[in-house]
Amino acid sequence: MRGFIRIVLWWVCVFSLLAVPCYGGGVVTVSWSPQELRQGEALYVEIKTEMEVSSAEADLDGTPIFLYKRDGGGLAGIAGVDMAASPGLRPLRVLVKDLEGKPFEKVFQVKVHKGKFGVQRLTLPKEMVELKGEILRRVLEENRKVKEIFVTLRHEKLWHNSFIKPVDGPITGTFGLRRILNDRPRSPHSGVDIAAPSGSQVGSCNDGVVVFAQELYLCGKTIIIDHGFGLYSMYMHLAEMRVKEGEEVRVGDVIGLVGATGRVTGPHLHWGVRLMGARIDPFSLLRLFPQGD
Ligand SMILES: [Zn+2]
Repeated sequence: MRGFIRIVLWWVCVFSLLAVPCYGGGVVTVSWSPQELRQGEALYVEIKTEMEVSSAEADLDGTPIFLYKRDGGGLAGIAGVDMAASPGLRPLRVLVKDLEGKPFEKVFQVKVHKGKFGVQRLTLPKEMVELKGEILRRVLEENRKVKEIFVTLRHEKLWHNSFIKPVDGPITGTFGLRRILNDRPRSPHSGVDIAAPSGSQVGSCNDGVVVFAQELYLCGKTIIIDHGFGLYSMYMHLAEMRVKEGEEVRVGDVIGLVGATGRVTGPHLHWGVRLMGARIDPFSLLRLFPQGD
């Protein structure tokens, strides 16, 4: 019997004008940037289809990527690679269904390169480094409270492609810096420190809702903003907080003033970002959307 089904699968690699890798073959095309993704960076994923889509989903190494409709057509989403995620290949899975529910699934491999993190050795008085008793209990409780925020997911995208640096000033503490205090390795620096005079205005890096505005023992006056789709930004060591929990903010709105509250040696802003729980370099978001298109 000659009855057999002939399936032809063709996958073409097309490089767009933006020189991002594109894969697919007529039906579904997936592209992402940056091509050279490092530990602690954000990834932008774009999905284009030739047919009407009834549903679409994507994940990076099992962590869901919230997808949204792009103005220019197609779908997009952002994913984050935690600063401590081991380098190597990560599966990027995309599943698209047409109007009849027919699935088109493809898994791509995204290479994660080693981050370029520095090392900082510090010697400080023992009592400044070691936490004990009531203070240790307070810090652990505060850490637990903050961690709870990052697992709460808002299924709505409040951010848009115009991330801004919250305050002007030089970077005095780089992202991912491995800190060795009194010869003992401590947790790496999960944000960036921007030096600015006390009282400088701090702006929200994007639109969102203030979900935390409290004083913490180590981090001082701290504001956390939920930008939706699993993206949070935080601002620490503020002299003053100018917003309250539950308040909506727009990109650039003044949320507080630079200070030196908490355990710090001088005034600066610690700016951190979490994306689906991953600790990522805030500047990697600015690099994803350089023109804020
Ligand atoms: Zn810091």
